[in-house]
Amino acid sequence: MSQQDSFLSSQDEEAVVNAIKEAETNTSGEIRVHIEAHTDEDHYEHALKVFAELKMHKTELRNGVLFYVAVNDHKFVILGDQGINDKVTDDFWDNTKEMMQDYFRKGNFKQGLVDGILKAGHELKTHFPYEADDIDELSNEISKSS
Ligand code: CA
Ligand code: CA
Repeated sequence: MSQQDSFLSSQDEEAVVNAIKEAETNTSGEIRVHIEAHTDEDHYEHALKVFAELKMHKTELRNGVLFYVAVNDHKFVILGDQGINDKVTDDFWDNTKEMMQDYFRKGNFKQGLVDGILKAGHELKTHFPYEADDIDELSNEISKSS
């Protein structure tokens, strides 16, 4: 079994998807998770490409947030679109990342992602409250590549 397969069990994946759904009931913002084994590129640069490939810059309010994980590289990146980055404090993503890292170091990847997603959702809610006519602009399913 590759590290990628053991990163999240199917139950864990369900918990992550549910966290995305829960976060998105409070905000018009859109959250996605992308998991892959490894990249030769700089992780931040690569996450930018994934963000574009997933068409995450296409949200109306530019309020998409990507949680990108390279499992075998032990790296992850949180990437917010321009709309949200204009609003959050400079250290918001760093704080979120640190909180997640504490879980990741203990091997609790599910809880790290779930808490990171809910924290992002809470912040999104402040700046981009949920509207009754909200559209689920980006899939809540986990995106993967090997
Ligand atoms: Ca939405
Ligand atoms: Ca969504």
